Formats: sequence, C-alpha cells, structure tokens
Amino acid sequence: MNAQDYKLAVFGQPVAHSLSPRIHRLFGEQLGIDVDYAAIESGIDELPERLASFRSEGGTGANLTVPLKPAGLKLCARVDRPARQAHAVNTLKLAADGWHGYNTDGAGLLLDLDRLGIDPAGRRILIVGAGGAVAGILGPLLAREPDCVHLVNRTADRARRLTDKFAHLGSIDGGGFDFGPGERFDLVIQSTSAGHASERPPLRREWLTETAIAYDLNYGAAHEPFANWCRNNGVSVHDGLGMLVGQAAQAFEIWTGRQPRITPVMTALARA
Ligand code: NDP
Repeated sequence: MNAQDYKLAVFGQPVAHSLSPRIHRLFGEQLGIDVDYAAIESGIDELPERLASFRSEGGTGANLTVPLKPAGLKLCARVDRPARQAHAVNTLKLAADGWHGYNTDGAGLLLDLDRLGIDPAGRRILIVGAGGAVAGILGPLLAREPDCVHLVNRTADRARRLTDKFAHLGSIDGGGFDFGPGERFDLVIQSTSAGHASERPPLRREWLTETAIAYDLNYGAAHEPFANWCRNNGVSVHDGLGMLVGQAAQAFEIWTGRQPRITPVMTALARA
C-alpha cells in the first residue's frame, strides 16, 4: 500500500486542536503503513460538499468530530449497529456503494477499560451525563453485561429518554442528580463536558462504594475538575486519553484491516 491508498481526514468545528492526525501518524509508523491524514474544518451545512470534494481528491476514510457526528449519519449508504444505536457516526469508510458509517466510541472505551483491567461485567455502573458520547458507549457497554447502569444528567429528561431507548439491551435506568440514598456504584463513568468550563457535575461520595473506580471521558485540562474531586474523595480515577486512542485504533482497523497497539501511542502523546 502507498499513501494514496489511505488518504484520511478528520472533519469538525473546531478541528485545529484535534489529536487525531498525530495519533494516526503514530499508528502508521507503528505498523509500517503510510497514511496521509489531514484536519478539515467543516460545519454541519458544509459537510456534504466538503466530504464530496475530499472523496474526489482520493479520500477513502474519515473521522467526524463535534458537531458533525449526527449529521454524518445521513450521508452514509450503510451504518453499523453502534452508529444506529447512537444516531451518530465518528468513522467513515468509502465502499462501492458510498460511505459506510461506524461509531467506534464504545469499542474505544472498552479497549481502554480492558487495558486498565476494569471489567464492566457484573458491575454497578453510574454514568454521569447523557449526551452524544453516552449514546455511543451505552450499546457496547451493556453488551458486556454489567449488573446495572444508572444514568444521571443535569437535564433529567434527556437521561430518561436515553435509558428508554436502551432498556431492551439490559438493566438501565436514569434521571436527575436527586436520586435517593441506598444506591451505591462501583464504577462511575464521568461523561459530561462540564470540565471544559472548569466545572464538574454535583456527584456525592456516598453514591460510590469504598473501592469504586472512576473513569473520565475527558483528558487534559477538562479532566482536572473531576480528577480533583476524585482525589479529594479517595476515588481512583483514569482519564479518557486511552479511550481517544482506542476509538482511533478501531477506526484505523476499519480502514486498513490492522489494529495498532494503543499503549505506545499513549506514551508518545504523554511525552509530547
Ligand atoms: P454533549 O454536548 O453531547 O453532552 C454534554 C453532556 O454534559 C450533557 O449530558 C450535559 O448535560 C452535560 N453537561 C455539560 N455541562 C455540564 C455542567 N456544567 N454540569 C453538569 N452537566 C453538564 O457532549 P458529548 O456527549 O459528545 O461529550 C461529553 C464529553 O466527553 C466531552 O467533554 C467530550 O470532550 C468527551 N468525549 C471524549 C471522548 C474520548 O474519546 N475520550 C469521546 C467523546 C467525547 P445537559 O444534557 O443537561 O446539557
């Protein structure tokens, strides 16, 4: 294969800050595959046109990031089950009948939980937040058969709507931050974007068991407010960098048929 075979890009707005070009370059180096991976700024309205011109220039695969994941769904000839469940695609691959869409967020999270030795099976999981990322991870997470999943969200109705949609896949319920005492969880997955505004959701320590583990989808500065809460409350916490690299690894495999290892890439990113 040469670079022309893997002309790739991430589309989003804003996209300049995206780590995806660096991650995919590192994957390529690891596996000896030449990838040409660009970052292309696009809003929702321009996406069809931007994607068409990318395709005409030889583009064969793409990632979609905020705010394009739901819009991407409509541009696909076929979508995989997680993308259908989430109503959002983060990965596109060109096929004979057009773009095929995938959602690798859930698989990326599971890859990272596996790397960390955190098995969701049989766990009582508290998910904080009910946005697009949660829609992407719920299906794959429930397939691992946790004991139960409880979703809490600032906008309680949004949590209820999401749990109704996934109720046929496992034991799941949800609502606002006002749920009663007595419920204790051993894994909390922080999935709000509050950290981007230097905030954190109103979690209570008594919702978690003594040995509960926390996983934050956020990384970098956005991870800090929740990480501080965890440190102050004696809860061991992991950031979402591994999920970011994990979902990218799944996309890389969809495009090339080869799955890269995520740990060396995380090490390289941390060093940079
Ligand atoms: P959305 O915009 O779809 O959803 C945001 C969620 O955060 C909503 O549930 C919202 O609640 C909640 N929220 C926002 N601000 C606050 C606040 N101040 N207090 C409490 N709740 C708040 O975002 P996504 O679901 O797409 O992404 C969520 C986070 O996960 C982002 O920070 C994103 O960067 C990160 N992410 C990381 C990935 C990775 O690979 N590591 C992959 C995808 C996302 P409400 O409904 O009430 O507005």
